[in-house]
Amino acid sequence: MYDIVITEFIDQWAVDDLKRDFKVHYDRNLVDHPEEIVRHAANVPALIVRNRTQVRGKILDGLKALKAIGRLGVGLDNIDMEECERRGIQVFPATGANSTSVAEYVIAAMMVGLRNVWQANAAVLAGKWPRNDLMFNEVSGKRLGMVGFGGIGRAVAQRARALELDLCGYDPAVKPDDPVWAKYGATCVDLDTLFRTSDIISLHVPLTDSTRNLIDTKSIARMKPTAFIINSSRGGIIDEAALAAALKAGKLGGAALDVFDKEPLKQGSGLDGVPNLLLTPHIAGVTQEANERVSSVTVANIRRALGASR
Ligand code: NAD
Repeated sequence: MYDIVITEFIDQWAVDDLKRDFKVHYDRNLVDHPEEIVRHAANVPALIVRNRTQVRGKILDGLKALKAIGRLGVGLDNIDMEECERRGIQVFPATGANSTSVAEYVIAAMMVGLRNVWQANAAVLAGKWPRNDLMFNEVSGKRLGMVGFGGIGRAVAQRARALELDLCGYDPAVKPDDPVWAKYGATCVDLDTLFRTSDIISLHVPLTDSTRNLIDTKSIARMKPTAFIINSSRGGIIDEAALAAALKAGKLGGAALDVFDKEPLKQGSGLDGVPNLLLTPHIAGVTQEANERVSSVTVANIRRALGASR
């Protein structure tokens, strides 16, 4: 019988650390076999997951002794939080531990996107020399609109300011007179103004009923036809079919997506062959440095929850 079951990738040192005091079952492939999770974890007090393990329904029902969930990351949309609260299960996200990595991804995406680096790379590899055929833009002086101004939105602002972008943001939980806007050199605007005036729109909100399909045909119609959208938050916040249609029709400048409605993204998703679209496999928060911090915070949280901190 185990104390802790880990269903997705975690640094090996973190597993070894936990094994000093607990019986740990670690299998990074368990995420793809929910029935195996229930088999191994039926009596465990602690479960450690990333973003893919769906901790709800049959899994929650099957894990009868569960007291604590360590989330190797921050979004909690894969965990039925209401049900966890009802059952007295504590959930520990690794808040802030991968913000720097996500912020650096956003900066990289906007610079690579506006400079068309990936298309230039593909063209040169194909034996072409498109020096005057692609559009290349600076980020300096462009307006960056951040939808969501929590930990990651602010980490992006901190870096974008140094690149001389004009910053604005929308977040219903951060009031216009909150000094945090001035601290990060950003203007608080309403969502409509953000959509209408931004050259780059970066999403930093959780996936909830209020953010699902926040970017759809209607909101895209309010954006500049040159706008570049970056989604490093969650799939589902952008209506992918609407985005693909807008890019194909030249109604948007481009987009960088790290997260998708259905992951992993498969051929035939509707995003194949869409122009000016940069795709990455949910890696914004995944760097060696972030993995180390995320693992370390999660180990500490689970140790505390199980009453064996060192
Ligand atoms: P956070 O909780 O610090 O900030 C989220 C902010 O969004 C909050 O301030 C909240 O008030 C705001 N918000 C909520 N609903 C909103 C709405 N309808 N419109 C505008 N703002 C709204 O979270 P964070 O650490 O900044 O992370 C943001 C999201 O990024 C996470 O929920 C997660 O889904 C995602 N994420 C992705 C990766 C990745 O690898 N791609 C890594 C880490 C986090």
